[in-house]
This record gives sequence, C-alpha cells and structure tokens, in this order.
Amino acid sequence: MAAQHSSVRVDVAVIGGGVIGACVARAVRARGFEVVVIDPAPGEGASRGNAGLVVPSYSVPMATPANLRAGLRGALGHDAAISVGRPFSAATAGWLARFVLSARPDRVRRTARTTFDLAARSRRLYDDLAAEGLDLGLRTVGWLWTFGPASGPAAAASVVRDLERVGSAGRLVDGDEARALEPALGAEVAAGVWFPQEGVLDPARATVMLLHDAEERGACVLREPVVSAERDGPRIRALRTTTRVVEARWVVLAAGASSRAVGALLGARVPVEAGHGWSLTVPTPEPLVGRALMDADAHVVVSPLPGGLRVTGGMQLGGRPSSERADATVAGLRSAATRLVPALADLPDGVAWQGARPMTAGGLPLLGRDRSVDNLLLATGHGTLGVTLAPVTGEILAELVTDGARRRARGAA
Ligand SMILES: Cc1cc2nc3c(=O)[nH]c(=O)nc-3n(C[C@H](O)[C@H](O)[C@H](O)COP(=O)(O)OP(=O)(O)OC[C@H]3O[C@@H](n4cnc5c(N)ncnc54)[C@H](O)[C@@H]3O)c2cc1C
Repeated sequence: MAAQHSSVRVDVAVIGGGVIGACVARAVRARGFEVVVIDPAPGEGASRGNAGLVVPSYSVPMATPANLRAGLRGALGHDAAISVGRPFSAATAGWLARFVLSARPDRVRRTARTTFDLAARSRRLYDDLAAEGLDLGLRTVGWLWTFGPASGPAAAASVVRDLERVGSAGRLVDGDEARALEPALGAEVAAGVWFPQEGVLDPARATVMLLHDAEERGACVLREPVVSAERDGPRIRALRTTTRVVEARWVVLAAGASSRAVGALLGARVPVEAGHGWSLTVPTPEPLVGRALMDADAHVVVSPLPGGLRVTGGMQLGGRPSSERADATVAGLRSAATRLVPALADLPDGVAWQGARPMTAGGLPLLGRDRSVDNLLLATGHGTLGVTLAPVTGEILAELVTDGARRRARGAA
C-alpha cells in the first residue's frame, strides 16, 4: 500500500467492517489485492449481538402475503412481529411500496430458491474456512422451529411443504419428539420442524476472527468513518475519512443498515432499509439448551452460545426505536423465550442489545456492480441472513474484483 501524507492508495476500499466487510476483505486479499477496510467501529454493528445462526432453511423472504397482514396489524398499533418505525420517511415509504409489490407467490418462490442456493454454498464455505485453519466456532446443533397448540401441526406441515419447494429438508415432529430433541422445551410445544444440518456460532467473535485473518494476510483497517467522496465522472476517485484520503480502484459498500446513507455520500441510490431488532444474552452456568430454537408463532429465536443463551427477535422497519419500544420488545422476547424454555425464569436479567438488519424490499442481497457508479460494488442488504451469507458474499465480490482486474489488463494490453 502506498501512503503519501494523509493519502492512501489501494486496489480495494471496503466501507464497513461487519461480518460482510470482513469476509469481503479477507477473500479479496486472498486473491492478492491491496485492501483497506474503513469503519469507525468494526464489528460493532448488526454483526455483534445477533442470533449467530447459519441457516439456509431461513431463505423465504420477509415480503410474503402473511407478513403483509402482520405488518398491517403492526401499523395499526396491534402487537405484531413486524412494525413500521417513526419518524416515517419518504425513503421508508418507497421501500414499503416495493415490499408490497414483492409479495407475489411466484416471486417469493424464486427469491427463496436463489437465497437457499447462495446460503447452501455459504454453509459449505464455512467448512472450507475451518479446513484452511480458520475455525469460526460454527457448531451443527440443528434448528428446531416450534408451534403452540393454536397453530400446531397444520402450521408445521405447511412450513415443511413450503421449504421442500425451495430445496430445504425439514422434518415434521410432534410435541413429544420436539421435547426428545430438546428436553428443556416447555409443555406448550405441540409440533415442530427439525432442521438437523443448521448451525450456530458466536457472531461477534467470528467477525473479529475474520477481520484479524484479513489483517494477518495484509489488509489494513482504518478506524474512521467515510465522510465524503470525490468523483471523477462516473467513478469514485477518492474517499475521505476524518483524517485520510483513500484512493481505490474499486470501492465495496458493506455498510449494513447504513448503506443507503453511505451510498448517498458516494452518489449511489442503495435501497436498503434498517430492520431494527433486539437480543438479550443471558449467562447460564451450564448449557441450558443444546439446539437452536425458534418459537415460530412469536418469531423469537433462542441460540445456545458459549457461556449462555441469546434470545433474539423484533422487526421495526425504519425510524428510530424509542427506549419504551426497546424495553417493551426485550420484555416480550424474554417472556416468549421463557414460555418456550421455562428454566429461563430462574436466570438473571441478561444483557440487552439492539441492532439493525440491512433489509432489501424483495429479500435478495445486493451483490454486484452499482448501476450508476462505475467502480462501486455492493455487498449489502443481507437482511436476516448476513451471518449465513457472509462467506459466499466474500467469494462473489472477490470474483467480481478479479474479473474487473482481468478486463482492465486486457484493455491495457
Ligand atoms: C436481532 C437480529 C438477529 C439476527 N440473527 C441472525 C442470524 O441468526 N443469522 C444470520 O445470518 N443473520 C442474522 N441477523 C442479520 C445479521 O446480523 C446481518 O445481516 C449482518 O450482521 C449484516 O452484516 P453487515 O456487515 O452488512 O452489517 P454490520 O455488521 O452492521 O456492519 C456495517 C458496518 O458499517 C459501518 N459503517 C456505517 N457507516 C459507516 C461509514 N460512514 N463509514 C465507514 N463505516 C461505516 C458500521 O460501523 C458497521 O460496523 C440478525 C440481525 C438482528 C438485528
């Protein structure tokens, strides 16, 4: 990397050092390109306190007719898994319009299939990383979705049918089989769907490890925000941080839920909306559950992490969540998780966290060249599946950079 005064010149500048930016930086650096990751707080975004599940089965997008009905209930102020935040911006309104248009059954099926294929490739890449010596702590503990007596076996059977069309194999189980798989489950569980191949890792630790690995391979991390960009016609000539000017042949936007705002600094329209969510991490002296769990009625996930349990859920689209909203959501998560795993009632409060998923309206991540800025590559919009899709995102972006370099070399020859 060539540095003059406060200016830095690299092949690739990655904006954002979450799990996505870390995977991109690592994969691009592994192909021999000079890389700088720019982020004021690497690993402190959504990649920190999420559920840590690596779950190709969760590939059905959020824009479905059922979720539209749930969203409407939320907008009307009723208790709902999905709600729309305040203040309500024009950008959020446009995003919601596209979300509604995306909820057609044929489109939902195509998106689910594409996401599942990407996620299955990503799952294999996690194994490849471990085989190369980068063990991110992914454990194949399986994932059990549970249903209460009201929704019960019919809802579970419909999940199995929907996912079979996508290519994912979940097994229908009754309440007793569910409790045999996970003895900590409460008596209310009437049915379940069991995905034995799914896994879980500690997302904060995995993100730090990926970033360290990229650094060990020669990538640099600049702990400052991108504040502006200088354009040269359709290209970004340089990025400005608080103290540096970074000149890069390619810029990768991996700024998670801030991608719309950062994209605007670069002159690009990036249709990503924040999907605010919450988690509660409760320390447990002994492992309380062995499987990853999801109460599919309440949309609450319980992840077994090293040293404790993490309960996650909530989806507020756009706006800024109020502290009242945060307190109410975390209390709701705790009580839903306690119904699922009654032994949680005897455990301490735990540590609450809030993060924002980078949501696209249609559910597919944005992986590829931006339409209006020539040297801008997008690696964002991973929604509820950023941890799952991070390794495949790194590979796809590294392939794009390599192809671009080949084309340039051919053009120069
Ligand atoms: C409650 C919850 C549970 C979840 N559970 C799962 C799960 O089980 N499995 C799964 O696969 N996914 C899950 N997700 C989704 C997952 O967390 C995200 O998709 C993923 O973390 C997105 O990663 P990212 O790197 O794009 O974003 P982030 O981790 O948010 O990183 C973006 C980075 O960009 C940086 N940035 C912002 N602005 C600038 C700027 N101007 N200049 C430079 N840098 C900037 C930020 O500092 C941040 O570090 C969950 C999310 C939530 C909220």
